[in-house]
Amino acid sequence: MARGLRWGIVGATTIAREWMIGAIRESGGEVVSVMSSDAERGKAYAKQNGIPHSTKSLSTLLGKDIDAVYIATTNEKHKAQTLAAAKAGIHVLCEKPLALKLSDARQMVAACKAAGVVMGTNHHLRNAATIRALRDAVASGKVGKALYARVFHAVYLPPHLQGWRIKDARAGSGVVMDITVHDADTLRFVLGEEPVSVTAYTQQGGMGGAGIEDGVMGVVRFESGLLAQFHDAFTTQYATTGFEVHGTEGSLIGTNCMTQKPVGEVVLRNASGEHKLDVTPENLYLRSVTAFQNAVRGKGQPAATGEDGIRSMALALAALRSARTGREALVETGL
Ligand code: NDP
Repeated sequence: MARGLRWGIVGATTIAREWMIGAIRESGGEVVSVMSSDAERGKAYAKQNGIPHSTKSLSTLLGKDIDAVYIATTNEKHKAQTLAAAKAGIHVLCEKPLALKLSDARQMVAACKAAGVVMGTNHHLRNAATIRALRDAVASGKVGKALYARVFHAVYLPPHLQGWRIKDARAGSGVVMDITVHDADTLRFVLGEEPVSVTAYTQQGGMGGAGIEDGVMGVVRFESGLLAQFHDAFTTQYATTGFEVHGTEGSLIGTNCMTQKPVGEVVLRNASGEHKLDVTPENLYLRSVTAFQNAVRGKGQPAATGEDGIRSMALALAALRSARTGREALVETGL
């Protein structure tokens, strides 16, 4: 059996600690080293997470005989770190949003392609059993012609994450680049079509710092004429999440499914009543890492590719443009 991948973790982060290090190990992979901009924090993080090495230097990490990096630093750092990994011939699984500007994201994808390394975007939701059940049901015509989708992704940002996301515009803060970008990917994945334009309104509900939105509502127009509404927030403590698709022959109601945990359910409502879809819960991050590992071995593609990361960013950036101008904004990927 092929050995698991040897990974370097770029960023001493919450997401790696809570989900990705475990997923890498469960996939048979090995976490070789972690990079932090702060040597002491990096050392402590490595110790807490059983990682043999830590370093302040990306080139030291890249030189550690690793196959892949998982980049989960704040968003403004993803580009330079991806370009360096590609140059070193190391595969890249990068967090979303890939970058702050589309031209940067395109450069990252092009660099990985030119270097012949695999690049994936860690959009976890398309790995959820509920979201995949929604996609299969739409693709197999269970709702007839899909007319509308609704995404409920308003959550409460937990106190331990109330840092750069709500304070630091240079790091790509705000709910749109944090959560709408996931909605964008999930909508494309479930509906199997591309967004054309978006109209959105942002809110500052008391959590975001000056000029940083902590809530948003909007409507996306897709190629077929389908309309999708989305609601994302950092400020709602008691809302539930969900994803719905409404068509000519039926409605799919996904509840508690826009989350990191393998939970939630999907019901199909049609002329013959209510039918709960078969959903076998599965760790979303393990599925993402496994697909990435398979892609490195020449089997298939990452669950979400670099191009998918560009496309999700394009919709999020268009939503911000719309909120700023008060007008409908076209979703332009430049691909
Ligand atoms: P964190 O806030 O935990 O970490 C981001 C950076 O902040 C780290 O790289 C680290 O710098 C620095 N940092 C961490 N802890 C401290 C501390 N105690 N004091 C000072 N600095 C600290 O980020 P997240 O894990 O929440 O998010 C990281 C990335 O992952 C983002 O791009 C985000 O969008 C994405 N993400 C994706 C999710 C998904 O499900 N796909 C879910 C959550 C986040 P250094 O590395 O230099 O030590």
